Amino acid sequence: MAVSNAALPAGLADFACDPARSRGRRHPEPEAPTRTAFQRDRDRVIHSTAFRRLVYKTQVFLNHEGDLFRTRLTHSLEVAQLGRSIARSLRLNEDLVEAIALAHDLGHTPFGHAGQDALNACLKAASAQAAPGDTDSWGFEHNLQSLRVVDELEERYPAFDGLNLCFETREGILKHCSKANAQRLEQQEPGGVAARFLQGGSPSLEAQLCNLADEIAYNAHDIDDGVRSGLLTLDQMADVELFEHYRRTALVAHPKLQGRRLLFESIRLMLSDQVYDVIDTTRERLASAAVDSVEAVRMGAPLVAFSDGMKERSQVLKRFLFRNLYRHPQVMETTDRARRVVSDLFDRYMNAPGELPEAHGRKQHLARAVADYIAGMTDRFAIREHERLYGAVLFP
Ligand code: MG
Repeated sequence: MAVSNAALPAGLADFACDPARSRGRRHPEPEAPTRTAFQRDRDRVIHSTAFRRLVYKTQVFLNHEGDLFRTRLTHSLEVAQLGRSIARSLRLNEDLVEAIALAHDLGHTPFGHAGQDALNACLKAASAQAAPGDTDSWGFEHNLQSLRVVDELEERYPAFDGLNLCFETREGILKHCSKANAQRLEQQEPGGVAARFLQGGSPSLEAQLCNLADEIAYNAHDIDDGVRSGLLTLDQMADVELFEHYRRTALVAHPKLQGRRLLFESIRLMLSDQVYDVIDTTRERLASAAVDSVEAVRMGAPLVAFSDGMKERSQVLKRFLFRNLYRHPQVMETTDRARRVVSDLFDRYMNAPGELPEAHGRKQHLARAVADYIAGMTDRFAIREHERLYGAVLFP
């Protein structure tokens, strides 16, 4: 059956990804009758096990610290919302943006970046101790792990491992990749998703857009969560030019506004302005680069961007959040415990592989099987498993 034209987004630009001209799937499949290839990718992501786990994975605050903080799931939904809204204005493919945005954090470990750092250190140590050829040396990178989830680890379909997503979705998921790992990927898939990390060039505009939507989303929601948690105050935020500008703007329109509503209105104004800034700047850059195809986009420098001024102001905010929120003693204290949970679990499974569920570790090196198993855990599952194996309660 042919793909229904009704499902195709109307008025896509020449430089947008067209599902009818996708570079295809690793395992060829017949087209779906009512959905485009990218819509189908999005649906596959939503139905995956890894996607459901995002609800119990840390963004900044541990999942059990409060019900209203962002989790990886609500973060991903916010990235998708911002991305789609910008994509529509630029006549990019919204469905592809949504698929990439919903999948972009699937490879995150429990406990956010602390979990990833710990797992990477464990893998490096295991690799240094192992006999040559007895381990792999990929280490742990969360973007690569997201790709691994959709390429290998999901077990849903009779004919293949993974979700068998289109090249364009996989390209967007692999946002960053170290050179060494890009070379390894390139050997497995010559000219594939890792090629641009070796030969230069850019991913599709939809992929570029998801990167920026990710940054816009977490800068805004981390202010919200930071203030909600009490670790940041509105007064302290006055030091950040970007935020202070919108707080003052909100107060001009609503002089009596205070507290939570003032915070929300300031964030809302900031989000809108950043979205409009990206749309305007990207339109100008698209016009001056005169790109007329996805191929031309891939050969050039990135085009989806903030204006110079907004980029600078956004970096100041990022640095502020890094110093005052991500490195806040209270956050660091849970981060230390989270690191210990991950490295303890890694040690135990390496020394007692019988503790791993049967499905793990059959067809690969033990260290990789252990890393895949731990990376897939939710915060609370990792905490429970640590209690089971060590009897110590690190997160009462
Ligand atoms: Mg993200």
